Amino acid sequence: MKEALLYTKGDNDEVRCALCAHRCRISSGSRGICGVRENRGGTLYSLVYERCIAQNVDHVEKKPLFHFQPGSLSYSVATVGCNFKCSWCQNCEISQFPRYQDVLPGKEVPAASMADYAARYKCRNIAYTYTEPTVFFEYALDAAKPAKEKGLANIFVTNGYMTPEMLDTFYPCLDAANVDMKGFREETYQRYAGATLQPVLDSMKKMKEQKIWLEVTTLVVPEVNDDPAEARAMAEFMVNELGPETPWHLSRFFPANHMRDLPPTPTDTLQRFRDIGYEAGIQYVYLGNTSAEMDTVCHQCGEKLIQRSGFSGVSRGIASDGTCSSCSTPIPGVDMGKKNS
Ligand code: SF4
Repeated sequence: MKEALLYTKGDNDEVRCALCAHRCRISSGSRGICGVRENRGGTLYSLVYERCIAQNVDHVEKKPLFHFQPGSLSYSVATVGCNFKCSWCQNCEISQFPRYQDVLPGKEVPAASMADYAARYKCRNIAYTYTEPTVFFEYALDAAKPAKEKGLANIFVTNGYMTPEMLDTFYPCLDAANVDMKGFREETYQRYAGATLQPVLDSMKKMKEQKIWLEVTTLVVPEVNDDPAEARAMAEFMVNELGPETPWHLSRFFPANHMRDLPPTPTDTLQRFRDIGYEAGIQYVYLGNTSAEMDTVCHQCGEKLIQRSGFSGVSRGIASDGTCSSCSTPIPGVDMGKKNS
């Protein structure tokens, strides 16, 4: 166990966690909503420090990040636990595990060794992913610092529910993030995720201010967030608050977890959402979990820039300075013209 960062002590051995927007008040002997932070006698501990539940090598496009070191490999790690309880979660076996079991599983993998694993598998970055990395913050931070010193990038795949304090602590090590925006209605967040919308919007804005490369994903779920008006609200928020260069990934829902009675998202709905994104001014909109093409084309002239097959991407039309080789428009992203694999 590792003493947690970002909490304050109160009366009667109560603590208040400041890691995510739930800001749980936790009495001695209890855990926070995520189930992976426990108060023992007035001291808050992380129960998942160096307890890895998943280690994989993925293409960075799988995160998905399409404008960050395209074609590179990501050393991808997770512990159990999440501060959300999404009804459609695809990784609920590990994300929700602490809600049902006291003893938390995980293989002991030292944080300091992550960078060496990543280098061994020729990864350019480490992705904290699969579950919610905010809740294994101390572990991720101790892995990210040496990784950064060794020239590796760090990526969060997150629901964006961290506090400003968390981002202020982590951002010097954080190069990119994909934030899951689950909709644009309070009701959606409260009913289906057990959370609220505004902290997610605030985190995304703060990441942009901190110069963290940001891409946004929305899983479009039938009867939950498939209203075109809601899509328009999300797209306008992105253009006005995050910038039109922020890519939007629209992902197709398939039945999972507590939502096995809904059909998969019709592809027409996804295409309508994509049109709404482009109409609002977003430069890059991608469809995920479909057979649709995922190539990147220049938002200025339409030249094919990155050809994707499955989750691997090959740069074809980007000059080494990151501009379109046809019209010289700068292509938003990080290391877009570099050979990343
Ligand atoms: S990380 Fe969030 S859910 Fe977990 S204890 Fe802290 S405030 Fe609560």
